[in-house]
Amino acid sequence: MVVAANLGYPRMGEHRELKKLVESYWEGKLQDTELVKEAAQLRVHHWKVQADSGIQSIPSNDFSFYDQILDHILLFGVIPPRYQEVVVSEKEYATQVQGLRTYFAMGRGFQTSTAATAASESTTDTAFGSAQAITQKIDVSSLEMKKWFDTNYHYMVPEFADSQTFQLSANPKPVVEYLEAKAAGFETRPVLVGPLTFLLLGKSGNQAKPYTNRVDSLVHLEGLLPHYIELVNQLGKAGVTSIQFDEPILCYDLIKENEEIRVRLQEALKKIYESIHTAQPSIAIHITTYFGEIRENFQLLKSLPINSLHIDCVRCSEQEINTIVNELPSNWSLSLGLIDGRNIWKSDYKKKLQIISSVLAKIAKDRLIIAPSCSLLHSPSSLRSEQGFVKPEVLDWLAFAAEKLHEIKFLANATVAGFDLSLPAHKVFADEKLQAAYTANQTSIEARSVSKLIHNDAVKTRIAAITPEMFHRTSPYPKRAAAQRAKLAIPELFPTTTIGSFPQTREVRSARLQMKSGKITAEQYDQFIKKEIQEWITFQEECDLDILVHGEFERTDMVEYFGELLEGFIFTKNGWVQSYGSRCVKPPVIFGDVSRANPMTTYWSKYAQSLTKKPMKGMLTGPVTILQWSFVRDDQPRSDTCYQIALAIRDEVLDLEREGISVIQVDEAAIREGLPLRISDWDQYLKWAIDSFLLASTGVRDETQIHSHMCYSDFNDIFTSIQRMDTDVLTIENSKSDLKLLRAFEKYGYQSEIGPGLYDIHSPRIPTVQEMVDRLEQIVKYLNINQVWGNPDCGCKTRHAKETKAALINVVKAAKLCREKY
Ligand code: GLN
Ligand code: ZN
Repeated sequence: MVVAANLGYPRMGEHRELKKLVESYWEGKLQDTELVKEAAQLRVHHWKVQADSGIQSIPSNDFSFYDQILDHILLFGVIPPRYQEVVVSEKEYATQVQGLRTYFAMGRGFQTSTAATAASESTTDTAFGSAQAITQKIDVSSLEMKKWFDTNYHYMVPEFADSQTFQLSANPKPVVEYLEAKAAGFETRPVLVGPLTFLLLGKSGNQAKPYTNRVDSLVHLEGLLPHYIELVNQLGKAGVTSIQFDEPILCYDLIKENEEIRVRLQEALKKIYESIHTAQPSIAIHITTYFGEIRENFQLLKSLPINSLHIDCVRCSEQEINTIVNELPSNWSLSLGLIDGRNIWKSDYKKKLQIISSVLAKIAKDRLIIAPSCSLLHSPSSLRSEQGFVKPEVLDWLAFAAEKLHEIKFLANATVAGFDLSLPAHKVFADEKLQAAYTANQTSIEARSVSKLIHNDAVKTRIAAITPEMFHRTSPYPKRAAAQRAKLAIPELFPTTTIGSFPQTREVRSARLQMKSGKITAEQYDQFIKKEIQEWITFQEECDLDILVHGEFERTDMVEYFGELLEGFIFTKNGWVQSYGSRCVKPPVIFGDVSRANPMTTYWSKYAQSLTKKPMKGMLTGPVTILQWSFVRDDQPRSDTCYQIALAIRDEVLDLEREGISVIQVDEAAIREGLPLRISDWDQYLKWAIDSFLLASTGVRDETQIHSHMCYSDFNDIFTSIQRMDTDVLTIENSKSDLKLLRAFEKYGYQSEIGPGLYDIHSPRIPTVQEMVDRLEQIVKYLNINQVWGNPDCGCKTRHAKETKAALINVVKAAKLCREKY
């Protein structure tokens, strides 16, 4: 039998119910017992959706209040000592649901003193509000959060102490949720993060002794494994017949041709899965890999006593699929991750069936499982809410999680029934119903491929006409720098600026909503934004910053703003995807050729410049970041789409210059996160990513200063690419990092200017002048004195006005003190 399987379902609910529940609980408006009860209903609903769609292998334990890795941290008791007081307070104040308070404290931090006021702010570190008052003062930050592979989902990083001990929690969540599903009438396959992935995603809790290689955390395997086995035993007792172990870590370069590491990994995997199998021989072990190819790591798996392996067929090349098919141990089943779990397009059944038929040449039907490429966690929930919102023609091209389930079921049914792709498209199936579904699918795929909405000949002509000169500035940096300094009249040493945004207060957001709903006119909104700009220009002049910004008040979000103004994008009504914790994002959908109909930012920049004699910086989002934070069309290479966006941004850059803006920042927050999982794939990506940035930013004259900003500073592994961006000024996040990271700039003889962030904008804390002077003094040890700028780590969008002003006043003071000194 061919099995239709799912690996995980979006937890938030079609209308972000979970977000609302969890946030109400944090605000003290919902009891923990109610939270737990409502969440259980949501889970049952999701199991039902999957069962109704004909999915046979339905996941459980894919639900999470915050993050699945955090669930495992609590599940195995990997609670760092700094949360001890929270654990104690939780016991003392006998919350009804034990563990929840500690859980959220690790997820979001916990602060008793400001809990009540801060709970409503998205940026604060409170676990929840005032409902259960605690008398003693607790102030503990969250665990570190990291991007989940190359997705926009973030997980909480496990912190392992040198002598870490583990303890399986009393009512293990996977058992509870399995039984809950069973009671509701659903037989499920619990999802666990595999021990290898769980360990290798973690970090050393000993800051002085960080792991030098991922595999260092394998020292904890001996302590951890018995608890996994105990969990598996309990699952077995509860009646579980199959467990999904997520081991996406196998898509990374783990071995790096190091024989010792290879042996360690091999032994670890053997130990893990042999002991699990020995403990519960009747439970089928299903290992899932996703987001990439497993390549050489496949060899580590071959001798394991497992029952099936899942591979991501969206990310695997044909060759990789062939290798796995050819070498698959004969007693294993193969789970084909055919339906894209990370994008929103309807699948092309023909292409999927081609893969199935090539696999069927080697592997019998009864060993096949049809599945999404990865958990559907990364897809929006359902297209239902998009009816009447997304234009019907485009709507017909999309599939969200609920629709993807049908695609999985169709492919499974098709495999069971048999098909013949060599016959004309209307005769591929003998079965009428399957044929009808296939025909409908192919009609819509065909309609999309030729749609006038997608294809814009003018864009294609421009792309074809790109010349090599369009990728570089006229003169090299030193010549440009002289021209810029002459034009801008800013201090020679430590000039100051900000990253672009100023606080998006409640008033700003509500003015925009009122404008959108027609409660205030466009004219009133315009006046409101202008007033904000004025106020903040006055402040910037008063505190004596050198390069000013208008504050980005007119923007909801740095990608959405541009997406709304560019051709080739659509927005969904409810296409939310979990980003971290309760936070969801609604990425724009790039469905067609991208072009710019009209200038997008000149109106505001010109207005802002008219208010001051100081240079006003024009603010744009770079092509790679726009691409990275959108759902991207899958009918052409990502690089092609990126070049199209780059041309649109290039036009905007040139318009800004024409309008008298002499400093322009092209933000590329996401270049690094777009890096492929495998190092051998980096060069290819970096080539087109950096080229896109260059295409967008290099059309200007020498005296126009190009800035860029990136939200990280560890450039060691991609340094030549950073250099190749050829920016005049690059501002980076740095205040929390080790200054040693700046060594790369020194080592590679980086020439142009750099603004290593002087303070952390994620914290409400106001940095003192002295600490920033100290920081600058440290920085000039690594960089040339005339290379250094003074600026915050990132945009001030999420901070309060008061904090922002106080901090920036201190930045300027610190820069001035250093100017005197040097
Ligand atoms: N210009 C943007 C801002 O200031 C940059 C934000 C970012 O890098 N994430 O908000
Ligand atoms: Zn940033």
